[in-house]
Amino acid sequence: MNWPREYLKAIRAGTEIVSTKVKTVYEREVAWMENPPGDFPFVFDEERGEDPICFIEEFCNHSKGRWSGKPFRFELFQKAKLQLAFGWVGKETGHRRFREIVDIRGRKCGKSTETAGVALYMLVGDGEGGAEIYCTANKKDQANLIFQEAVNMRQQSPTLRNVTNKRQSDIFFPATMSSMKALAADTKTMDGLNAHFFSLDEWHEARTRKVYDVMIQSQSAREQPLAWLISTNGRVRELFFDDMYNYASHVAMWDQGFEDYRVLPLIYELDSRDEWEKPECWAKANPGLGKIKSLETLKINVEKAKKDPNFLPTVLTKDFNIPENSVERWLPYEACVNETESYICENGHKVLWSPSDDDGCPECKAVLKPTLLAEHLAKSYAIGGCDLSATTDLTCASLLICKPNDPNYYVLQHYFLPDSRVKDVEDGNAQEAPYRLWKDQGHMTICEGATVDYRQVTQWFVDMVKLYDIRPLWIGYDRALAGYWVEEMQEYGFDMERWAQGPITWTYPMKRMGGLFTEKKIISNNHPILRWCVRNTAKKTLNPNGIESIQPVKAASNLRIDGMVSLLNAFTSYYAHEDEYRNYLR
Ligand SMILES: [Zn+2]
Repeated sequence: MNWPREYLKAIRAGTEIVSTKVKTVYEREVAWMENPPGDFPFVFDEERGEDPICFIEEFCNHSKGRWSGKPFRFELFQKAKLQLAFGWVGKETGHRRFREIVDIRGRKCGKSTETAGVALYMLVGDGEGGAEIYCTANKKDQANLIFQEAVNMRQQSPTLRNVTNKRQSDIFFPATMSSMKALAADTKTMDGLNAHFFSLDEWHEARTRKVYDVMIQSQSAREQPLAWLISTNGRVRELFFDDMYNYASHVAMWDQGFEDYRVLPLIYELDSRDEWEKPECWAKANPGLGKIKSLETLKINVEKAKKDPNFLPTVLTKDFNIPENSVERWLPYEACVNETESYICENGHKVLWSPSDDDGCPECKAVLKPTLLAEHLAKSYAIGGCDLSATTDLTCASLLICKPNDPNYYVLQHYFLPDSRVKDVEDGNAQEAPYRLWKDQGHMTICEGATVDYRQVTQWFVDMVKLYDIRPLWIGYDRALAGYWVEEMQEYGFDMERWAQGPITWTYPMKRMGGLFTEKKIISNNHPILRWCVRNTAKKTLNPNGIESIQPVKAASNLRIDGMVSLLNAFTSYYAHEDEYRNYLR
């Protein structure tokens, strides 16, 4: 049986309710089983994928609660996960494709039982010689929890008792000289490990990346190691959780630069915060709801949270994977993507085209090739925008362009980042963004040294005029640190407009801009950095005197939103001069 395919069928039929990210992963993975990407070195082997399922269902019993002593039976979402994680193997090597499974789901959705079972399988059933299996967590008692669950499962199974020994601090499997033990961040020494498998449980509590980094490094000598990360969301969001969550989210959506086929991200969460009051959406964050997790208990919790604001954060975080201190994302995922791009045919027709359109030029049916958006827009008046940053953040220059009798808003952007900052990201092993790739694609300039050279920003605006005859009539910016740059721009004849940062300036243009993104009227040739910045943007809402005002903020401290702010500054100037600008369209 192909469980991922069965699960996807149920998702499509609506009998399994999942988050956008989970659905996207299963759509992609199942499509690859039939049509793998060119030169994909892996093949999906259903039987290999069923090994751990059969092993755990045969040898492991529930060790506590109402099912204690009863044989373990996986739900569909678990079978799909396990078969996916274990079934993809190298065509030539036979080694597993996935190295890391990142699983986020609500509390009481069967995390510890599943993890303990998988750890036992990796000890006894995976065939690795001298395997070192670690149940890890931030704290010793959490690590022991999973380990103890495995010990109890062993205790209840005559077969596992026969083939393994329980020693003082580990379970030993003499046939392959393999062992399993608990390990935590507060363990004094973690040197000399050679891990084949580690589980990292409830890692939202991890205040540092120490355990994760040490364990990943300790796997370097293994041929098919596996990291099994499983957690609810956290009330205290520390850097490691945010890093891992953001990275896994990008991989789930297969965002450009994040195409990591060694990581399997399964993020069960509500797609938007207000879904916590919609029972039909609850399963998005709680796979196995009504089967593993009690629907009745969840209902009681939600009713209590509606009456007691002090209890609400716990329910949002632990049952719905929304951290209490999180801010609301500005736009849903889909609004950030616009697949319409500029093309040209061999007869010189410039057209907009998206993959959903029929093939060929709509005017003469000739073959189309992609073209630079700046070429497509040559000879236009524009509104400029800029967000300047010195060191950490991105600097972004924008041009917003309208054309006569055309409802679209076109956006050209270029980004700048100091070289030292790119090196820091690379050295720090932080998976922030694929800056080098974006530079190679021509979307970004990496400036030598430790700060951005604003003269290069000026040069970009000048080039757009010289090369494409695209002239900004006004350029909006918001930073005091603009300094000499503004004077330099004025010397070139640009009309610079400084806007005060904040909700008074930004509420109106931000609402309009959000509407245009949602209506797919903003065309940037799907600029990967703009898309990334828009996705990173959260909305800070203030309600003075009952009038909602908003401004953009980062959804997490290590994310960048400068491309969105740069465009917002352009829109602020646009709405200040809308009628006048519209007279100049050509
Ligand atoms: Zn044509």
